[in-house]
Amino acid sequence: MSKVDGIDRIGVVGAGQMGNGIAHVAAVSGYAVALADVSEAALERARATIEKNLGRMVRKEKLTAAEADAALERIAFGTDLAPLADCQLVVEAATENVELKYRIFEDISKRAGPDAILASNTSSISITALAAHTDRPERFMGMHFMNPVPVMKLVELIRGLQTTDATFETVQAVARSMGKTTVEARDMPGFIVNRILMPYINEAAQALLEGIGTVEDIDAAMKLGTNVPMGPLTLADFIGLDTCLAIMEVLHEGLGDSKYRPSPLLRKYVEAGWLGRKSGRGFYDYSRD
Ligand code: NAD
Repeated sequence: MSKVDGIDRIGVVGAGQMGNGIAHVAAVSGYAVALADVSEAALERARATIEKNLGRMVRKEKLTAAEADAALERIAFGTDLAPLADCQLVVEAATENVELKYRIFEDISKRAGPDAILASNTSSISITALAAHTDRPERFMGMHFMNPVPVMKLVELIRGLQTTDATFETVQAVARSMGKTTVEARDMPGFIVNRILMPYINEAAQALLEGIGTVEDIDAAMKLGTNVPMGPLTLADFIGLDTCLAIMEVLHEGLGDSKYRPSPLLRKYVEAGWLGRKSGRGFYDYSRD
């Protein structure tokens, strides 16, 4: 897959789970990358994660050691947004907080070159609303990668009200140059994947609350009965129950339909700090892992 004409350097703002994955796939695809985060610790973790994931690709013979080294060298890590001035595309992947993202886009608008395209990896915030906090709503759109980015094939592309066809086509070409398959989703809460996935996970929590089955039986039923790689409760523990709850709240509020009401069990688990794998306990207990 070759780089898209006119796009040499990609800026990534936010170096967490998603940002480091986006930097990884961009660098492996031949783009120079400026990866920025406010936290030095996040940047150090991002470098370690990218090194580890590149190493895994070398062991699986998907990359040579020299290609992995070259990819890592193409990524510049830093807390400064100044390097965004040389990027033709900037993808924001910072914490999912609407006010924070508005501030970040106001800042990026000042730093990025006048022709650069800006994109957000947000899972739930309105693309049109984010676009309104840039100086270029016609060169702005959603570019929603899936977690873990190096493994998952899909990127959802979302136009804001003012996104031009040229912007859409460039971002689509960039995603494809990274080896991803794209789908277009309307700028509505949850886009496609979370609009369908989260009510499914929420219903599994509700089925558990109503005693329809045990945790193990609900997962086994869906895994073996519908041929998915993991059951909904296992998947929820991977995603994080706080994230699942937050997305259900966005669907509930944004679509105004009671069918998106978060399951009280999901809310209770989050209140207890049972957030899934990351906290050692969710629907399953990982304390001995
Ligand atoms: P994360 O918490 O792992 O990382 C967020 C990073 O943003 C942190 O390192 C934080 O220090 C950084 N940050 C905060 N303020 C910043 C600022 N002002 N400038 C630069 N960096 C800043 O979160 P994540 O899971 O990587 O999610 C990032 C985005 O991707 C969110 O919008 C989320 O909705 C979206 N997303 C997440 C997933 C997922 O499964 N985790 C999937 C698809 C999309």
